[in-house]
Amino acid sequence: MFRRPRAVRPKGELSGIQPPSRIFNDVLSNEKKESVVSEVLEYKSWVCLICGWIYNEEDGLPEEGIAAGTRFAEIPDTWRCPLCDVGKDDFVAVEF
Ligand SMILES: [Zn+2]
Repeated sequence: MFRRPRAVRPKGELSGIQPPSRIFNDVLSNEKKESVVSEVLEYKSWVCLICGWIYNEEDGLPEEGIAAGTRFAEIPDTWRCPLCDVGKDDFVAVEF
């Protein structure tokens, strides 16, 4: 009798990726990890769906203590739109 080996499907490939909030917490706890998964080099802009205000990662928001180059994902979840006061959930990335 000859049995063919069954193809094994890779499962749970995304398990190694941490959600952004987790990365932020790691930075806070001074436990800097060298391998931040899927670091994208280009800066993005994020637009508020409610009022149209735009956050540019490249510019940051210095008047609110967010340094230039801060990723939207690195902004604390408590941050709110400076114009209409909605949370980060109501922002979407702008594609150029
Ligand atoms: Zn807004």
